[in-house]
Amino acid sequence: MPKPKKIKEVYLDHAATTYTDPQVVKAMLPYFSEIYGNPSALYHKGLEANGALNDARRSVSKLIGALPENIVFTGGGSESDNLAIYGIAQAHADKGKHIITTAIEHHAVLHPFQELEKQGWQVTYLKVDEQGFIKIDEFKKALRPDTILVSIMYANNEVGTVEPISEIGREILKHRKDNHIAYPYFHTDACQAAEYLSLDVERLHVDLMTINGSKIYGPKGIGMLYVRRGVRIKPQIVGGGQERHLRAGTENVPAIMGFAKALEIAQQNGQKENDRLMKLATYFFKELETKIPKIKLNGPPIGSTRLANNLNIAFDGVEGEALLLYLDEYGIMCSNGSACTSESVEPSHVLTTMGCSAKAAQSSIRFTLGRATEKSDIDYVMKYLPEVVKELREINKINSK
Ligand SMILES: *Cc1c(COP(=O)(O)O)cnc(C)c1O
Repeated sequence: MPKPKKIKEVYLDHAATTYTDPQVVKAMLPYFSEIYGNPSALYHKGLEANGALNDARRSVSKLIGALPENIVFTGGGSESDNLAIYGIAQAHADKGKHIITTAIEHHAVLHPFQELEKQGWQVTYLKVDEQGFIKIDEFKKALRPDTILVSIMYANNEVGTVEPISEIGREILKHRKDNHIAYPYFHTDACQAAEYLSLDVERLHVDLMTINGSKIYGPKGIGMLYVRRGVRIKPQIVGGGQERHLRAGTENVPAIMGFAKALEIAQQNGQKENDRLMKLATYFFKELETKIPKIKLNGPPIGSTRLANNLNIAFDGVEGEALLLYLDEYGIMCSNGSACTSESVEPSHVLTTMGCSAKAAQSSIRFTLGRATEKSDIDYVMKYLPEVVKELREINKINSK
């Protein structure tokens, strides 16, 4: 198929990372070469930085319905997940050695659980239904008196399934009450949810929550962990006494300022952006359905229990990876599964857990829309995608003969 004369850049991989919002960049700038003091220092340049840090902590905590002292700034989503999981496991091993998660978590959660399993912990990996939802009944059955940690993601990064966090939280509260215990502690990875959904920790009944900057138009390499008051965790990076001794190291003040601004914008515009993108995704999916035969939407139907910006599509008879590379030639960027696994040929653990065959999983592509995505971008994609799919299907047919 002939390449277009003028290639338009269409970025549809916002679940992998987002650009940094210009307002966020602006909020960060003074903290590189003007207010660059160490927040622990006692002279005015340090105090200034410390004041900014306090402001950021206050702002972030307010946005999630928490107190400033509940916020631990970290080096990103992976670090927050590791801190939550190892932090709880190591601090509460005397109470029990059973922990629960789902089989569809991000690897930043799955790998710490697998590591703990190797160290002798008993792990329940909850299965999900064909749309990616955990089954509450199975979850209730998995809870034991010696369960000390439950970690369930707020929204899935591959298929956009929004898990019933607040309902899970209520079950945990009930289990604690029935057994007269203060645990299991409940952690949720909210990296993908923070742009669109409410993060009110009281409504969600979570004890720990991970958010990062790189998915909400903030800087990369910055994140936070919410830790409920009274919940003890063991620090994983020790040294100085920063972050109330929970995360040593000179605070990344510019990134923290940027993160706070990014979360503020996300939570302010979330509902509006959610509605706009849901309309756009609905239009995109209709176009796909009418112009390309034999496709399937992986995950929940478009609606309130699916992230508004996510379309994960199986193109029967096509190699997802080949499709992705072809589309790149047209300036269209999307993903086959999670960014972190795109170098491996393994089918997505999320799609296979949802009951997809390895083949169907490998023929799937994830499009994730974002703040800069417009109808003209979708129309550009639809100008080329049907032909590319058709061509790849024909090549596949010839090769399999
Ligand atoms: C991106 C992501 C992470 C990892 O965050 P980093 O900031 O890249 O370490 C963890 N969990 C989910 C759900 C994510 O989408």
